[in-house]
Amino acid sequence: MALRIQTSEIPITHSVAIVGLGPKGLYCLERLLAEFKARPLHDALHIHVFNRFPHFGASPIYDPDQPEYILVNISIGEIDLWDVTDPPIVAGRGQDFVDWYQTTFGPPERLTGDEYLSRAVVGRYLIEGFQRILKHVPTGVTVSCHVGEVVDIRPQGRQYEAEFIAQNGLTQKIKADKVLLATGHSRLRPGPEEQRYEAFAAKHSSAAFIPFVYPVVESMGRVPAKARVAMLGVGLTFIDAVLELTEGRCGRFNRSSDGSLSYFASGKEPLSIIPFSRTGLPMAPKAFDLPTFLRPLTFFTPDAIVQVRREAADGKLDFEKDLWPLFELEMQLNYYRVTMGTGPERARLESCGNDAQAMLSVIESYLEIHPNQRAFDYQRAVDPVGDVEDVRVGADPRIGRHNPVHICPDLDCSSVQSTTDQRRRVVASAAAQRRRDAGSG
Ligand SMILES: Cc1cc2nc3c(=O)[nH]c(=O)nc-3n(C[C@H](O)[C@H](O)[C@H](O)COP(=O)(O)OP(=O)(O)OC[C@H]3O[C@@H](n4cnc5c(N)ncnc54)[C@H](O)[C@@H]3O)c2cc1C
Repeated sequence: MALRIQTSEIPITHSVAIVGLGPKGLYCLERLLAEFKARPLHDALHIHVFNRFPHFGASPIYDPDQPEYILVNISIGEIDLWDVTDPPIVAGRGQDFVDWYQTTFGPPERLTGDEYLSRAVVGRYLIEGFQRILKHVPTGVTVSCHVGEVVDIRPQGRQYEAEFIAQNGLTQKIKADKVLLATGHSRLRPGPEEQRYEAFAAKHSSAAFIPFVYPVVESMGRVPAKARVAMLGVGLTFIDAVLELTEGRCGRFNRSSDGSLSYFASGKEPLSIIPFSRTGLPMAPKAFDLPTFLRPLTFFTPDAIVQVRREAADGKLDFEKDLWPLFELEMQLNYYRVTMGTGPERARLESCGNDAQAMLSVIESYLEIHPNQRAFDYQRAVDPVGDVEDVRVGADPRIGRHNPVHICPDLDCSSVQSTTDQRRRVVASAAAQRRRDAGSG
């Protein structure tokens, strides 16, 4: 049932519908109210807010009821609901996440802002922010919150009609002048690949296909202890799924004094977790959180591009022939800067400036003196595990319970044996695509 936040006798002549009230819908609502307060309309405004999820502001991603080990992927110092102040916030400047946390939980030591806390606690911050906004709705505005799903929106004259199925299953039609969609990630329709997995699982009683990781406790609850789990995709969702199958099963990660992590299994985990993806690479971490480290370019410079363009037969550049070698020199220089450290070899490298031949001969002598040093190979950046037969990360059955997880390069699992070849194919096809693109460009 719709919850009417503020009733008013003022005739309503303007209406806005916000479909989806996760963080984005929440920011939009806050800004809409700020705009209205700063530039009031002659007539009243009614705002309909629709959300499938009953926790307005949080959305399932920041569900306050999810386990504590499901973490945000941005440091909490970046979370602030109230950082846009023009026009002024109707509710007044609220607390950023760190201050809110301090006030709400009073930890003995104040957070620095660099921490990655649970998504559940961020959800609480968002929900409280939503409630704070509702308490400060400006005069002339009313808000109705509808829990349920908008399943259709059609134009109706100068308005739109939203068809909405409420939590109790009743369908309603609600009109609005403007509709704002803030529906976040859409639901997945299974494609041919998923249908193939599904059909496979249907044929084999010991196999199961789990098409979607969320809600993570329920979906991972389908994985029995000692199962082998292959996971498609090695990004953030993968991390949530692995945390649920490890910490969620009473396992423990311990950090040693040297900073390394060991995992102590509870015995309830799967036997192995086998990540796979199109590239075979984990997702790159966000550079945003890393210290800025500028490396001025030495070889891939505007002057060098002018030079190669001058030398190109028709003035057109070929990616692989003209540009890639400059990239590769740039990468080599930075690779050896790191491996050489700060000694005299590094000084010799730096003294070469943009003389590529000189740099390559310094590198050659360096590798002769240090035969164990791995030479630069950009393929390793593209495919860091390309020369490993296969990698398994999981509880090693030979070791038994309460022992750290081992990474075994000698995997015998047939379901992933083709991944190395697949990765090579991906790299090869990426190179072919580059050539095609360069040819057509
Ligand atoms: C698993 C996961 C983890 C993430 N973790 C982080 C993180 O740690 N840090 C970060 O910065 N970003 C994270 N993100 C990115 C995340 O999408 C954003 O942080 C944020 O949730 C986006 O907000 P949103 O309001 O656009 O969408 P959502 O948060 O998805 O909210 C959309 C809301 O709209 C509702 N809705 C959708 N369709 C309808 C409909 N038809 N009718 C009614 N209601 C509807 C949904 O129920 C939901 O409540 C994560 C994303 C995912 C998928």
